[in-house]
Amino acid sequence: MSESMSPAFRRTGLGVALVLAAVLPPLTRDGYVLHVATVVGIYVLIAMGLNVLFGYAGQVSLGHGALVAVGAYTAAVLTVDHGWSFWAAVGPAMAVSAAVGGLMALPALRLSSWHLALITLAFAMVVGSLLTELRDLTGGFAGIIGVPLPEAGGRPLTEEQLYWLVLALVVVATWLVANVLRSRIGRALTGVRDAPDAVRTVGAAPVRLKIFAFCLSAALAGLGGALLATTRGMVTPDDFPIEFSLFFLLVVIIGGAGRTAGPFLGTLAFFVVPELLDDLAEWRLLIYAVALLVLIVYVPHGIAGAWEEHGPRIVARLTAGGRHRSEGAVAVPSVDAPAPRPTPMTSRPGSGLRLRTTDLRRSFGGVRALGGVDLSVEPGTIHALVGPNGSGKTTLLNAVTGLVPPERGRVLLSGTEVSRQAPERIARLGVARTFQTPLLLPRLSALENVLLGAYARERVSVVEHALALPRGWSESRLLREEAAGYLDFVGLTPYARTPAGILPHGNQRLLEIARALMARPRLLLMDEPAAGLSPAELAMLDGLLREIRAQDMTVLLVEHHIELVAAVADQVTVLDAGVTLVSAEPSIALHDARVLHAYLGS
Ligand code: ADP
Ligand code: MG
Repeated sequence: MSESMSPAFRRTGLGVALVLAAVLPPLTRDGYVLHVATVVGIYVLIAMGLNVLFGYAGQVSLGHGALVAVGAYTAAVLTVDHGWSFWAAVGPAMAVSAAVGGLMALPALRLSSWHLALITLAFAMVVGSLLTELRDLTGGFAGIIGVPLPEAGGRPLTEEQLYWLVLALVVVATWLVANVLRSRIGRALTGVRDAPDAVRTVGAAPVRLKIFAFCLSAALAGLGGALLATTRGMVTPDDFPIEFSLFFLLVVIIGGAGRTAGPFLGTLAFFVVPELLDDLAEWRLLIYAVALLVLIVYVPHGIAGAWEEHGPRIVARLTAGGRHRSEGAVAVPSVDAPAPRPTPMTSRPGSGLRLRTTDLRRSFGGVRALGGVDLSVEPGTIHALVGPNGSGKTTLLNAVTGLVPPERGRVLLSGTEVSRQAPERIARLGVARTFQTPLLLPRLSALENVLLGAYARERVSVVEHALALPRGWSESRLLREEAAGYLDFVGLTPYARTPAGILPHGNQRLLEIARALMARPRLLLMDEPAAGLSPAELAMLDGLLREIRAQDMTVLLVEHHIELVAAVADQVTVLDAGVTLVSAEPSIALHDARVLHAYLGS
């Protein structure tokens, strides 16, 4: 029964529940309930922003409350001191918060999660003390009172209208954010923490993605701040204590980080439940602490994650008793239909880059990984790179793709010098690769991982995606069809929706190849694609390389599997201890006495 319920159906169930929860408060005609519901809506907006930052991009921020404060104070200063209307002040409040959020991103460009957490916490403390110190601007401890309500038709909104306004903003923001996260930006964001090298080698710059995530989440925090200011009619430093920042991080974690419903569920759980337990107010902190411990142990992916896992069974049990299978409700998106194989192997026009390295050198401490490698790979050929473990093969690929800049020497792509350029720039010239240990975005589906490969080819802007304009829509549809084609090409169609992180090793390798091909590369670098493959997968790889060979694409293949190399390679270069032993046709290179010596050590 449970398998008949698709994720789409589960999401719909959750959506319906949330809509019901949203229309309930005005029906109570109770001012207190309306006020609480309005604040909950505002908190959802703020948590939604933090979810982008923490849940998707993996950046821990313990300073988010400060960004809310910045938005609230900006709106208060503009309305109270300068007589602006709320509507006029909202944009600047978001902009100022976004700018401050961008500043907060700077340490994130260099620091690990835990250091970043401390820095953002310190940042929140600085902002907190500025709120009381900059008395002329902020009114010191007394804050700013008399923040006006938004007006419509010359009259301030009623409590109920304010609630509907917040609700409308929540709906619009959810839609915009979901659209952005469904685009290439969203895919790449999830790799910023989990697999930054993979993100870079598809042509995305983690630095820019981080700044984007900070600014977007800060803008939402600013919006939330402005709304809080107008809802309360005042701002004081006490409204934004340090716990405020912790609160939002907990909301995101408890709701389910990186899940659309997370901010909703987390805010409801965190805000409404204690509100209902009003008599237990003194125990609130203890209840939070215990709840957090229990949740982290038993519900590691938050409420949204638990629902994904157990929801179908619960619903099935509740609706059991002779119900038919809910097939009608299951809308299977065309994505997963076995795609017509859309000529998966079309490479770019003018393809097949020539790769040349000259005197490439790189050491790690005392270890010489590359001792002056000259390599020449002709366009449109498969060039194998073999050699014992530790001979520098992976380092060579890293040097070519920019991940490990060489200390000396040059890398030329059809005459263009790329030595020491950023990996994302090199990727954009048409270079794709796979890794010796597959680097996938573990939380994304196999299909999404393939889609990531097209990052550098996508032309539609983030704004067009956010607004779901037709251009973004049609580009996405074409790319999805193409990605489904590549997935089929490597035999992984049945796993289109499976998170890449739980695929068996061999499948992960093949998935990486599909992702690399999705870039329509002009130079494809593969690092031991056959390692750990089953015989069936090996046969698949063999066929795949033969098809690739029929294309005008240059391939540099690092491989231990000598039969495979002999079967598909046009040329073989043998590395040993960071230097070239031989470079020749397979029949010659693989039988060279020095090669046998290096391999067999005899
Ligand atoms: P291969 O891929 O041929 O097995 P590698 O290029 O991975 O060889 O490694 C070549 C040498 O460089 C090895 O001695 C390895 O230990 C060393 N090495 C590679 N990468 C690093 C690194 N990031 N830090 C330290 N040493 C490294
Ligand atoms: Mg290696």
